Amino acid sequence: MLKPFQAMQNSNKRNRLSRIALISAAVLSVSGSLTVLPAYAEDSAKNEVVSTSSQMNPGYYSIRLGDFKITAVSDGTVMVDFTELMNNTSPEEVARLLARRYHGAQVETSINAYVIDTGNHVAIVDTGAGDVFAPSGGHLVENLKSAGYQPEQIDAVLLTHIHGDHSCGLTRNGKMTFPNAVVYADQHDVDFWLNSDNKDKVSDTLKVGFEWAEQSVGTYLKAGRVKAFSEEGELFPGISAINTYGHTPGHTVYQAESQGQRIRFIGDLLHSQDIQFARPEITIDFDLNSPKAARQRLNAFNDAVEGGYLIGAAHIPFPGIGHIQRDGGAFEWIPMNYRAKAN
Ligand SMILES: [Zn+2]
Repeated sequence: MLKPFQAMQNSNKRNRLSRIALISAAVLSVSGSLTVLPAYAEDSAKNEVVSTSSQMNPGYYSIRLGDFKITAVSDGTVMVDFTELMNNTSPEEVARLLARRYHGAQVETSINAYVIDTGNHVAIVDTGAGDVFAPSGGHLVENLKSAGYQPEQIDAVLLTHIHGDHSCGLTRNGKMTFPNAVVYADQHDVDFWLNSDNKDKVSDTLKVGFEWAEQSVGTYLKAGRVKAFSEEGELFPGISAINTYGHTPGHTVYQAESQGQRIRFIGDLLHSQDIQFARPEITIDFDLNSPKAARQRLNAFNDAVEGGYLIGAAHIPFPGIGHIQRDGGAFEWIPMNYRAKAN
C-alpha cells in the first residue's frame, strides 16, 4: 500500500486517508458520586478524554520457526478509508463488509515488518514508512530495538515492493537506517519506481512514490547496496523470493523455511482482512494492475490453505501472523495463538 500523504493533503481529491484519530476513553462513574480514573487519565479528567497512541502497546512479537526466530515489528498504523479506495465493488458493499466486522469507513490499519533471524543472517522483510507517515507510522526502529536488534545488525532488507509504507523506512532524514544491509528487491520494481519517466503511467496520488523511491531505495543504489533480482528462488539458505507481480510490477512474497516449518510474508497481496478474505476479487486503487493483483491474492490464499503454512501480513492487525482457512466460498483469517511460554 502506498499512502501519498503529502500529495493528498494538497489535492482536491476525496480525502481518502487521514491522520490517526485520538481515541477517547470513557470515565467510569461508580454510584453516581465517585469517579474512578486510571492514573494516566487524571490530567485529562476535565475533558473526560484520554489521548493514546500505538506506542502505548507492545511493538514486537517473536515466534520460533524451526531453527529460525521470526519477529513481527510494528511500524505503527495508518488510517485508511476503504469505502473510498476499493474497486470491483461498491461503497455500499464495502461499508457493509466493514460494519459486519465492527468497523466504520475509516480503519486504523497496521504496518508490519518482519525480522528473519536464521542464526547466520538477520534479514528484515519491509521497513515501514520512515518519515512519510509520521506520527502514526515510522516507529520501526524503536520497536526493533525493543525486540533486541540494532539496525546495524540487519544484513539484508527484503522489499516486497517499493511503496512508501514498505520501503521509506530505509532512510530517516536522508541517512541509511540499515547501514550494513544489502537491499533486495525485484528488478521490475527497481526499474519502474526509480525511473521518473514512468510517472505518466500512475494516478496522481501515486506520483509521489517516485520521489519516495529515490529518497529511500535510491540512497542505497548510489552506495552500491541494492541487489535487484529478476528470477524467483532462494536468496539465502531457508529464505526465498516468490514472484507475485500485479500490485506493483515486481511485487514479491518472501518465504522462510526451517526444519519443515514455513512462513510466507505476503506484503500487499492483501490490504483489508475485513474485505478481501470475504471477497478476494475486490482490489484497491494502489494496485497498478488490478486483475493481476486479484489473481495473485486468490492464488496465494488457495496455496496457503493447501500448504497449511503460516502467513505474515503487512496490513493485518499486528502482529499479522496466522493461517488462512476456507470459509464456504470465501476465506477466513485465523490469528496465531498468543504464546507467552518460551519455546
Ligand atoms: Zn503497496
